[in-house]
Amino acid sequence: MLPIGLQILKQLPKQNFRSENLSFEMEEIGIVIVGGGIAGLATSIALHRKGIKSVVLERAEKVRSEGAGIGTLSNGWRALDQLGVGDRLRLNSSLIHKARTMLIENGKKREFVSNIVDEARCIKRNDLVEALSDALPKGTIRFGSHIVSIEQDKTTLFPVVHLANGNSIKAKVLIGCDGANSIVSDYLQLNPKKAFACRAVRGFTKYPNGHGFPQEVLRIKQGNVLIGRLPLTDNQVFWFLVHMQDNNHNGKDQESIANLCRKWADDLSEDWKEMVKICNVESLTLTHLRYRAPSEIMLGKFRRGTVTVAGDAMHVMGPFLAQGGSAALEDAVVLARCLARKVGPDHGDLLKDCSMKNIEEAIDEYVDERRMRLLGLSVQTYLTGRSLQTSSKVLRLMFIALLLLLFGRDQIRHTRYDCGRL
Ligand SMILES: Cc1cc2nc3c(=O)[nH]c(=O)nc-3n(C[C@H](O)[C@H](O)[C@H](O)COP(=O)(O)OP(=O)(O)OC[C@H]3O[C@@H](n4cnc5c(N)ncnc54)[C@H](O)[C@@H]3O)c2cc1C
Repeated sequence: MLPIGLQILKQLPKQNFRSENLSFEMEEIGIVIVGGGIAGLATSIALHRKGIKSVVLERAEKVRSEGAGIGTLSNGWRALDQLGVGDRLRLNSSLIHKARTMLIENGKKREFVSNIVDEARCIKRNDLVEALSDALPKGTIRFGSHIVSIEQDKTTLFPVVHLANGNSIKAKVLIGCDGANSIVSDYLQLNPKKAFACRAVRGFTKYPNGHGFPQEVLRIKQGNVLIGRLPLTDNQVFWFLVHMQDNNHNGKDQESIANLCRKWADDLSEDWKEMVKICNVESLTLTHLRYRAPSEIMLGKFRRGTVTVAGDAMHVMGPFLAQGGSAALEDAVVLARCLARKVGPDHGDLLKDCSMKNIEEAIDEYVDERRMRLLGLSVQTYLTGRSLQTSSKVLRLMFIALLLLLFGRDQIRHTRYDCGRL
């Protein structure tokens, strides 16, 4: 069933839709960002800090981000500092000093430990999106704005977005930050995302008397289950639970997601079972893991006219390196820097004096700068995910060999990447 706005658009001839007799409005805006998640808000702030206005169209009625918590490594903190929100977020998240991964197979346990010397913390997602939205000028985010289609204006060649309420906006620049099911990436004619055969649940657990866990990321792979936890405070942890083969559940409501987690955690030790059992059921989200194929990251056309994408809309990846969100923050910094270089801060809301050629060149610079970085992240995430997912020892060894060949022994080198100054 199409959204009502789109049904109306389909029924009406174009000239009627634009006719003054109808109550639909056509507005003109310089930079439109579709989606007010991490990528959209970060891109808008980055532009704002460069003196460039933008409008964020978000279909939800308020700022929110699904997925409870988010692990943020030093590359993400560098980007957050450029956006001016790093210090506020540090106040409510503690440092993580160590990463431990345990593989339990046929009763045998193997453990890999690495000390984290750079900054690594877990943040509540809502703290992150609130910090980002608070840093924006009032009126920048328009909630309840659901984009249902995009077309190119035949005369000006700039994009026009149509909203579910029947209104339309002509934009000089359109940036799709609308996540893994991006309508903007469809407009760019990018291929649909691919699916890992696994599902993940994320949530919080509170321990009123303190959890007593060390300040470390702990991941355990046992059978088809990968479970991990990161301490948020002394009495709260963020955790994730991935089932590598169970592809059937849609998690209709919070209670059914909680029951699913209890089932997946059934073979784990008592402390993990307890963590899942006493979790905050409202915090749970179930996600079908998807990724953009590395080949498309390498060859895909991420610009059509003055339209581009950032965040998951550009490069959704599995959670195995905990880099999707940080990569979205990096996108924001690089895109705003490239646009500011070409369009400058002094063009007002409509970027009036700014030529299409300049905007296109700016977007091309952004895509060129991001492509190799994103290719590295997506290949490493893909191979890491596959090595954890496969039940074949031969395949696992092959994936690990490829990881070592391509990324060397220092598998967290990607966290030392610096997206540079705004
Ligand atoms: C299990 C799991 C664990 C993860 N763990 C980590 C981690 O530890 N660290 C990390 O860095 N990353 C992690 N990630 C990745 C991270 O969550 C994503 O990369 C990040 O949230 C992407 O942000 P985004 O803004 O691009 O997309 P989204 O968060 O999906 O935001 C898209 C926004 O666009 C809006 N929207 C969509 N369509 C429309 C439309 N048509 N009109 C208007 N608005 C629209 C949506 O409402 C939403 O607000 C994880 C992902 C998963 C699945």
